[in-house]
Amino acid sequence: MASREEREAFVTLATNDTYALGCLVLGNSLQQASTTRKIVVLVTTGVSNSMRNQLSRVFDLVQEVNLLDSRDSSNLQLLGRPDLSCTFTKLHCWRLTQFDKAVFLDADTLVLRNVDELFDREELSASPDAGWPDCFNSGVFVYKPSEETYQSLLHFALTQGSFDGGDQGMLNIYFRDWATKDISKHLPFIYNVVSQAFYSYLPAFTQFKNDVKIVHFIGATKPWHHTYNTSSGKVIPLPESGHSEEFLQMWWKIFMDLVQPALDPTLGGLVGE
Ligand code: UDP
Ligand code: MN
Repeated sequence: MASREEREAFVTLATNDTYALGCLVLGNSLQQASTTRKIVVLVTTGVSNSMRNQLSRVFDLVQEVNLLDSRDSSNLQLLGRPDLSCTFTKLHCWRLTQFDKAVFLDADTLVLRNVDELFDREELSASPDAGWPDCFNSGVFVYKPSEETYQSLLHFALTQGSFDGGDQGMLNIYFRDWATKDISKHLPFIYNVVSQAFYSYLPAFTQFKNDVKIVHFIGATKPWHHTYNTSSGKVIPLPESGHSEEFLQMWWKIFMDLVQPALDPTLGGLVGE
């Protein structure tokens, strides 16, 4: 019988090589925080072999997921809904049934300290979304892998769709009692501090920023879009991204120290002057 540590996993996702860079930084941040759990990355055909090799150096499992699997009975319906393809890809995390419990983390998150205590929570536990706190943010959530739940979510998504076109809108309707039923399923905000908190409530950010456990760089601008000056060792934040320079600097430190040196030069450079 495998130990509890081996039956629980952190799970992330990349559909292309750029998001895979985020996964590499995230995976390294989990290792730095000395997690005792397995770490898994889901990839689609959009992730190159060279990048999969990089991922396998950091992750215990690089799991290919294929939405257009001919064994999938929902295939035909899916082909008619290209708008939901990203949503469906995230749902694949429920199929990792070799694990009893898992924590999904977006590729644009960064773990600052050990968060293994999240495995004491039940499905579906998540932090409030800063934009609408009666919804949870789907960038960090605790769940229980189950083929039955996966099928149920897939059916739900196909029939109900998503009010925001993504996984967050769909999951919030599926797990609709999250807001009111059980406070233990509300993760503290420090497990999913979105970049907007920086300017929407600056005094709170200043007061509590040392407690932050997971940072989430939501929005169109991602950490890898900023410029990094190799001579000064400092990130040059793009104006109006809303990202905290301090957190961006932490992302880039892991990238420069642990990810970039091992990258295949044919993958293309990220670092500007
Ligand atoms: N994702 C991906 N490829 C994409 C878009 C999204 O792999 O082209 C995955 C990735 O894990 C990402 C997550 O889906 O972190 C959610 O998307 P994103 O973080 O961009 O959304 P946001 O948090 O900004 O709403
Ligand atoms: Mn995200």
